[in-house]
Amino acid sequence: MLRERINQRLNEVEDRIQKAVARCGRQRSSITLMAVTKKFSSDVIREAYNLGLRDFGENYVQEFEAKKPLLTGVPAARFHLIGHLQSNKTRIAAELFHAVQTVDSGKLARRLNEACAAVSESDKILEVMIEVKLSEEESKFGAPPEALPELVEAIRACPRLQLTGLMTMPPWNDDPEQTRPYFARLAMLAKQHALAKLSMGMSHDFEAAIEEGATHIRVGRGLFGPRI
Ligand SMILES: *Cc1c(COP(=O)(O)O)cnc(C)c1O
Repeated sequence: MLRERINQRLNEVEDRIQKAVARCGRQRSSITLMAVTKKFSSDVIREAYNLGLRDFGENYVQEFEAKKPLLTGVPAARFHLIGHLQSNKTRIAAELFHAVQTVDSGKLARRLNEACAAVSESDKILEVMIEVKLSEEESKFGAPPEALPELVEAIRACPRLQLTGLMTMPPWNDDPEQTRPYFARLAMLAKQHALAKLSMGMSHDFEAAIEEGATHIRVGRGLFGPRI
């Protein structure tokens, strides 16, 4: 029943993705559907995996630390941290995640780099993205666009971090047309810094994000229903 429910929602999301890529002439394969599983159990993650999903986004280090031991039978899953990372949690984050999408300072990058050297899997390379703050008032976290040149350089100087792209979380708006300019702006910034990946777009606005160049869309409620 759980699987049926997720499958039905997945089909709906997939249908929306197909329509969006058709509208802008992109390939479906250029977009990764990331399942955002904050506040959902490891059983939900496993069912989503069994339906073919491979990339999962989690917001809280501690929550995922608790779920991870229960997550057997998902050998090819990739876990991305998409929530804010405190510098005192870098060690455990480097251990738990394949990618951290929310690097927003040189200090955090250097901490993560050191943390990678200390994890049990000794040749760990962590994929990272920079979280960009595109609106002054609304988001607490993220690097302002002016800080990007220096931050990109700082991360590229970290041998255990592989910088692949930019991520953003625009101010909430029901209307995707209000959010679209933020997506376009992030795409422009990524281009300026020769970064290939763009993590942007959520359940209610991922079509606009795809049209503006998203390579990673982050979908929670669209796949799993409301979070309690
Ligand atoms: C929760 C969350 C999402 C997913 O939001 P939905 O509306 O459930 O699709 C995406 N990105 C981030 C950073 C989130 O915290």
